[in-house]
Amino acid sequence: MNFFKTNKTDVTGLGMEFSSIPADTGKIQKLYRLYEKTMAGTQLMCREGCAGCCTCNVIVTGLETAFLVQSLDSEALAGVKKRLGKNFPAKRYIPKMTTNQFAEVCLSGQDIPEEENNPEWGKCPLLEDDRCTLYPVRPFGCRSMMSQTDCLKTGYAQVPPLVLTITNIFVQTIEHLDHQGISGNLSDMLVHYLGLEKYQDSDKTNLFTKNSKIQALMVPPEHRLKVASLLKQIAALTQGV
Ligand code: SF4
Ligand code: SF4
Repeated sequence: MNFFKTNKTDVTGLGMEFSSIPADTGKIQKLYRLYEKTMAGTQLMCREGCAGCCTCNVIVTGLETAFLVQSLDSEALAGVKKRLGKNFPAKRYIPKMTTNQFAEVCLSGQDIPEEENNPEWGKCPLLEDDRCTLYPVRPFGCRSMMSQTDCLKTGYAQVPPLVLTITNIFVQTIEHLDHQGISGNLSDMLVHYLGLEKYQDSDKTNLFTKNSKIQALMVPPEHRLKVASLLKQIAALTQGV
């Protein structure tokens, strides 16, 4: 198992050091591939270079951030640092809870805290001329933005309910894989992992949430049979976690 290398101590405010976060990025890659395979038969309008959904509100786990950073060569990494410095979003979505915590809250019948999230807060800082500069290693939050209609024309995404269920299973699994780690906004996670906090001109507190294991999967009864085989494949991939 690899570990994300950093000499930083607790900058998360959660009593955790980034260096304690396991970064078994091979499992992330396998999950991304399985998602691509699972979605292969779905007709989508999404393609590289379509940036309508590339906002500054993407959420990532630490494990995905580690995969992303480890996958970039020095030139690409320099580009990421430059773009974060130039385009760091002052206003962005800061999650109050992770997806697995959300599932737990729903299961317990407690109230769900209100969250502020608005695509008009701005584009992803990693875009260049409306193209993603790290498309092959983009996080799952970006991979799972999809639509059967061209949402640049319609103004909204059209996603079949089963695709939403499948996507949620992957989101929950990715968090489960990194249950000892943290999640946060892509911009915050990258600047902290790369030691670039100077780019943040806004409040630096409460930026991250601790990840959790899966306690309940968000699969509606009508989809349980349809995702049974996928769940077996995911269980094989996450064995021992
Ligand atoms: S979700 Fe919409 S904006 Fe995003 S890639 Fe797909 S079609 Fe383009
Ligand atoms: S990382 Fe790439 S795919 Fe994801 S929102 Fe940013 S530009 Fe778009």
